[in-house]
Amino acid sequence: MAEVTPPAGARKTYHGVVERVTTHNADTRSLFLCLPAASEFRFLPGQFISVAIPTDEQRRTRAYSLALSPKDGQPLEICLNLIPQGIGSQYLFSLEVGAEVSFTGPFGLFTLEHPPSHETVFIAEGTAIAPIRAMIRHALGHSRPPLLTLLYVASDQAHLLYRAEFERFTREHTSLVFEPRIHPSGQVSALLDEIEQRYVKSDSSRERHFYICGVGNDVLRVRDLLRAAGYARRAVQYERW
Ligand SMILES: Cc1cc2nc3c(=O)[nH]c(=O)nc-3n(C[C@H](O)[C@H](O)[C@H](O)COP(=O)(O)OP(=O)(O)OC[C@H]3O[C@@H](n4cnc5c(N)ncnc54)[C@H](O)[C@@H]3O)c2cc1C
Repeated sequence: MAEVTPPAGARKTYHGVVERVTTHNADTRSLFLCLPAASEFRFLPGQFISVAIPTDEQRRTRAYSLALSPKDGQPLEICLNLIPQGIGSQYLFSLEVGAEVSFTGPFGLFTLEHPPSHETVFIAEGTAIAPIRAMIRHALGHSRPPLLTLLYVASDQAHLLYRAEFERFTREHTSLVFEPRIHPSGQVSALLDEIEQRYVKSDSSRERHFYICGVGNDVLRVRDLLRAAGYARRAVQYERW
């Protein structure tokens, strides 16, 4: 498929083809996108793409995080859940193998560019595991990473994505601790008390780094709890969907 050459200053548009679709549960899927062989697409763990949603006359886009690490190569994976009446997710759920997906990117500053040098705690809910999965895969690809803890909450077992993969990683890498949590809300706010107990009240270390991802203002509540407790702003990275 030919690539569009953008005018100077404009973002390049990529045209991926859906190579595979996997179903995680009744409302969550991954799409695997292949780019033409000549495409140079570089990104950092945690970044997202802006996908064109060509459903009507309007030009709409939706952001989707890349769920694999750059070192995993192609196809690129995006993982998303179906939102009732959601234009973007409904469109992407309608796509079958062979469909074209146009996007720009990569974008975003919620990244793990270098392997972590400090103990790092990743906090995620549901599909917001996508950018954090990319970061963890990236971090584990380096020798001797520091302690990495993944606190991951979902509304039920079926929505705890990539569980087998994270469990395998904990067997292969002693530096990773995987702590899944089930809570009816499925939101990171359900972890607030635990986070406060473990990372605010139980010791005075403020050296840890945090990466938090989820939907809505709950993400900001976790961020604010940690920053107010004395963790540096740059040590508490977050992305709110
Ligand atoms: C930087 C960034 C990265 C993102 N990466 C992903 C991703 O990897 N996977 C993914 O599924 N979504 C991701 N999103 C959300 C995605 O862009 C869309 O907002 C989502 O798919 C809903 O779009 P929609 O058109 O179907 O529904 P809309 O009608 O646009 O959204 C309806 C409501 O759903 C809320 N919402 C957004 N995302 C979710 C979600 N995942 N679960 C529940 N409610 C949600 C929105 O806040 C909004 O209030 C990301 C958003 C941002 C800003």
